[in-house]
Amino acid sequence: MASLTTSAATSPPPRQFPNILITGTPGTGKTSTASMAAETVGLTHIDCSKLIVDKKLYLERNEELDTYIIDDDALCDELEEQMNKGGNILDSHSIDYFPERWFDLILVLRTNNTVLYDRLNKRGYSTKKLTENIECEIMQVLLEEAREFYDLNIVHEVKSDNIDDLESNVERITQWLSQYQQNQNNKNQ
Ligand code: ADP
Ligand code: MN
Repeated sequence: MASLTTSAATSPPPRQFPNILITGTPGTGKTSTASMAAETVGLTHIDCSKLIVDKKLYLERNEELDTYIIDDDALCDELEEQMNKGGNILDSHSIDYFPERWFDLILVLRTNNTVLYDRLNKRGYSTKKLTENIECEIMQVLLEEAREFYDLNIVHEVKSDNIDDLESNVERITQWLSQYQQNQNNKNQ
């Protein structure tokens, strides 16, 4: 019985529709990639930053850095039902509080420092916020977190410097999804 429980805990039942997590430093292209991919393959895009603000899923706002301290329990509660159903492409900068079982594929977007600087500068970020985010990218914080909190086999680091990268990342998701669905069909036969 004990081994059954263990195996059930480590390998969740396969969902008919998978969930994909797209993460990375702000400005690496999470929202652009997730929305294009979702539109291409017909999954649902969930932009966590937007959800957090729209549904006020934060504890407080850090005025100095112009960021929110996320209420991660409230965010997870908000997402739980939809994630259990599957079929979502979640785009999130912070990832350490999501249940491991939610995701079938994780892409960590990486962007060249100069390119990232220009993108964030265009957003009007303060020098302090700019520096923090460039450092976050240099230290590959999100990649390390993804590798720490999730199964290494599902975590993939991908480049997101230009439009070709964006398209190739969407193509990668499309291919991966088609393989996932084929595996599901084979299991159901
Ligand atoms: P994030 O959601 O990670 O903060 P966005 O998707 O909002 O990033 O992208 C930030 C900016 O960079 C946007 O202006 C977007 O058009 C641009 N951008 C994102 N990814 C790419 C890419 N692969 N190539 C060129 N521009 C990109
Ligand atoms: Mn975004």
